[in-house]
Amino acid sequence: MKKQFEVIIIGGSFAGLSAGLTLGRSLTPTLIIDSGEPCNAPTPHAHNLITHDGKVPGEIAHLGKKDLEKYDHVEFINNRVVHIEQKEDQFLILTDTDEEYFAEQIIFATGVKDLLPETKGFKECWGKTIIHCPYCHGYEAKNTKTGILAKGEQAFEKAKMIFHWTKDLTIFTNGPHEMTAEQLEILSKKNISVLEKEIKSYLHDEGKLEALEFMDNTRMELDHLYALLPTAQPNSLAIDLGIEISESGHIVTNEFQTTSQPKILAAGDGTTPMRSLSQAIAQGNIAGVVANRTYIQNKYDFE
Ligand SMILES: Cc1cc2nc3c(=O)[nH]c(=O)nc-3n(C[C@H](O)[C@H](O)[C@H](O)COP(=O)(O)OP(=O)(O)OC[C@H]3O[C@@H](n4cnc5c(N)ncnc54)[C@H](O)[C@@H]3O)c2cc1C
Repeated sequence: MKKQFEVIIIGGSFAGLSAGLTLGRSLTPTLIIDSGEPCNAPTPHAHNLITHDGKVPGEIAHLGKKDLEKYDHVEFINNRVVHIEQKEDQFLILTDTDEEYFAEQIIFATGVKDLLPETKGFKECWGKTIIHCPYCHGYEAKNTKTGILAKGEQAFEKAKMIFHWTKDLTIFTNGPHEMTAEQLEILSKKNISVLEKEIKSYLHDEGKLEALEFMDNTRMELDHLYALLPTAQPNSLAIDLGIEISESGHIVTNEFQTTSQPKILAAGDGTTPMRSLSQAIAQGNIAGVVANRTYIQNKYDFE
């Protein structure tokens, strides 16, 4: 297999496939390396993506991969990038099977890692009935017995939003609520209750949430729970290269998906807390265009 590419895309999910399609169609030698762990794997149906609303996310990604087969300039391999080194004008990319590849430019499309709590039953429900985003799953959860797992300002703001989808709403703060008396009064006027009890486990039937069980062994029935989880970069590759990372842990890019180092681009969840398939695809497309334009500029001397 070829070792030298103009662009290597690390991560071959929605952002990476979109960048790859753009680069393949623009005759730019490109390799996509993907470790096959997209963040939305636990969810049975992806929503709010035109032409694919309600499909299994893996099936959409599979179609995206198939699209690439038409284009000779782009290759896709299943592997994990474990190290990247800037060598003079090139990047050396090392995989966990010790293969070395070289590129003039790289695109990070590595997404984020959701930091799930260890509480029993949470993981099994994540992406199914424990959800993070009303635009992805709110329609399916509308008018059901719904909870919000958060505290303080975050809980207050999320409750005001989710109230639009369901009026049967409880905030679970899993400890002190950290809201002001004024906020509690506003919530109470809308019959949104706040429960500080510590959660022991999430009772479910194959990911279908049934109830929350608390440390005092009481239970409360529930159909859906919005959980505001922290996220992190999935690995230290971007951090080790010294590109700018925001306080929230995202790779900082400009509107052209370029990071603080011009030959390193980034797209998708790794760059923004506004996570969606459409957004990842759009950013991947921009990153692909920008990488291709750099390729053209360097290849043809029009000066
Ligand atoms: C549970 C859940 C449900 C969601 N539902 C929806 C929905 O219904 N609608 C919607 O619009 N959005 C939804 N989202 C958000 C959406 O899935 C993301 O915005 C989108 O997947 C981001 O695409 P991405 O390519 O940036 O990252 P990801 O899809 O997470 O892909 C990152 C890829 O990079 C690879 N990777 C990481 N590190 C390496 C490495 N070192 N080497 C090689 N490969 C690597 C991973 O294996 C993975 O394949 C959901 C998110 C979650 C968590």
